[in-house]
This record gives sequence, C-alpha cells and structure tokens, in this order.
Amino acid sequence: MDISRRTFIGGTVAAAAPSIFGATGSEPKKGRLGKYVGTLVPGRYDAHIHVHPGEPDPDRLVKSFAEAGLAGGVVFSRSPYARTFPDAKPQTPEEAVDNVIAWCSGSPSIYPFFYIDPAAPDACEQVDMAVEKGIYGFKVIRSDGRPVDAVTIKAYRRMAHHNKPITYHSGILWDGRDSSDNFRPANWEGLLAVPGLRFALAHVSWPWCDECIAVYGKMLNAMAHKGTEVPEMFIDTTPGTPRVYRREALQRLFCSDYQVKYNVMFGSDCSIEGYHVDWTKDWLSIDLPLIREFNPDDADDVIEHVYAKNFLRFIGKSEEKIDRIYPQVAV
Ligand SMILES: [Zn+2]
Repeated sequence: MDISRRTFIGGTVAAAAPSIFGATGSEPKKGRLGKYVGTLVPGRYDAHIHVHPGEPDPDRLVKSFAEAGLAGGVVFSRSPYARTFPDAKPQTPEEAVDNVIAWCSGSPSIYPFFYIDPAAPDACEQVDMAVEKGIYGFKVIRSDGRPVDAVTIKAYRRMAHHNKPITYHSGILWDGRDSSDNFRPANWEGLLAVPGLRFALAHVSWPWCDECIAVYGKMLNAMAHKGTEVPEMFIDTTPGTPRVYRREALQRLFCSDYQVKYNVMFGSDCSIEGYHVDWTKDWLSIDLPLIREFNPDDADDVIEHVYAKNFLRFIGKSEEKIDRIYPQVAV
C-alpha cells in the first residue's frame, strides 16, 4: 500500500479554518475508500489519538468523531518500538506512515502524525519520507534517553526545516520501565537550539505541571529576546491528570500570568480502533466549566482557541497573528 495523503484530499487542504461557532453543513468529502463519509461539522479538535495494530477503518473513526461532536483531530501512527506491541508484526516506517494516512482518509479534517524514533540512525530520512507522503507532524515518546540530545536534535531540526510540529509525551509514563525521569519538562530546554520549531508537551506533564508551566514561561521569555530564533511551545491538556488534580492543573495553567491562551490544546489520548466517545465527552464536560471559571473576561475566545484555533495553528493550517505578551525579568 503506497498512499500519498495528497492523492485523496486534493485541494481541500486550503479550506479556511472553521470556527466553533461558524456555519455547518459543508459538503461531505469523498474518502480514500471511494465513498462518502460522515460530515464533520466545524467545531472542536482532538489533538491526541493513538493508532494500535489493526486494519484501518476510516469511516468508523469519522462516525466516532461525529458522535463526540468533534470536527477532527490528530492521529499518531503506531509506536516505532517493537516492545509496545510485542505480538504484532512490526511495521517499517513507510508502512506506519501509510497506515496512519489510511486511518485519516475519512475526512480532510483528520490529520496524520508520524510517531518516530528520533534516535534512529536514519531519522532525518524518515522525516523527509513522512513529509513527502503528506504527514502533518510528528509524535515522540522517548523512554530510552533524554528527549533532546546531540543525536535526536538533528531530527528535530529537520522537522523545523519542513515547518512540521512535534507532540511529545511528557509526564510520568506507564510503560513498566524506569523511564519517567526522561519526561520531566525541563529536559526540553535543549530545544532552545532549534529555531522555529513548534512543539507540544502532552498531559501538562503531569505530575510535573508546575515545571511544565515554568518551562513554557521560559520559552516565552526567550521569544521576547530572540523572536523566531527559539521554538514555540504548546501545552496539550490530554488527561494524565487524575480527576482530583484536574481543577488544580487547569487553574495553575490558566492563572499563571503567562500568556497561555494561544498555546493550549485539548486531547483525549483515545486509541483509534475504539474511539471512546463517552470518555472524550466526559472530559469536555469537566474542562469547559473550569476554563470558563479561570478565564472570566474572555471565556468564549479562550475556548475557541483551546479547542480549535491553537490546534490549527500548531499543525500549520492557520495564519493567526498573535498579540504576544512576553514575561520579562524585572530589572
Ligand atoms: Zn498518548
């Protein structure tokens, strides 16, 4: 199977970014499988969905998104580490890219990301291959070492060269291995040496939410001095936070005094085979009132940014100009 995303989305990628509050009823798009699929109305996006082994069923995913009231989202290809699914036949990087593109072929608003091992000897070539096939961004979960080092940074520079973003796992990882220390947010300061890169730390780095917010403030401050010579950091609020911590995590995030409005995104962490509609709806019902409470002056605008506009800018489909407020060191 050799699929280029461009072959089935044609000219639709240039469509204007939809608004949560915008009109509905756009024409259904024709999927890769040659039949019309469910219409995904403009609205909210899920920035964090995983592929597990199995045959692509793009129509089922579209149906799940429609049931969850979502306009679309990002799907990460299968893990590049054989240990993740020891019983499954390993995929080559090309097969993983083709597989996730097939999963995303039911709607032009479902975007494939390639889950890459940034320490692979041919990581830069894999980046080029994935971009050529139509991947919108990358996913990295590096439990074998620090996320940013002299080896992996080459792949990140390649992604920045292609103007493609990365979503990283950050925070404790349930992998049964001694790995969590690699996922503490301060480990990403090394990306200061990758100009222009857009990257997201997932799960608000729980339980290191404070450290995540602090690194965000540091990156924003660095932008004040250097502009695009530093990367832009996003925070993906995908649960990881047990419910009892959710309120505190979102309060600290939105009340930090750092300008987070343009850099926070929502994600579910669902797996694609059985997209868990109720789980996503549940988190939406928990988060929305909290976001309103912590942003009393501009709640509607913050919600539209967190659930749509920031996502679209992260994946390179929005040219929104941002009026930045940079944290400064008092002098
Ligand atoms: Zn995840």
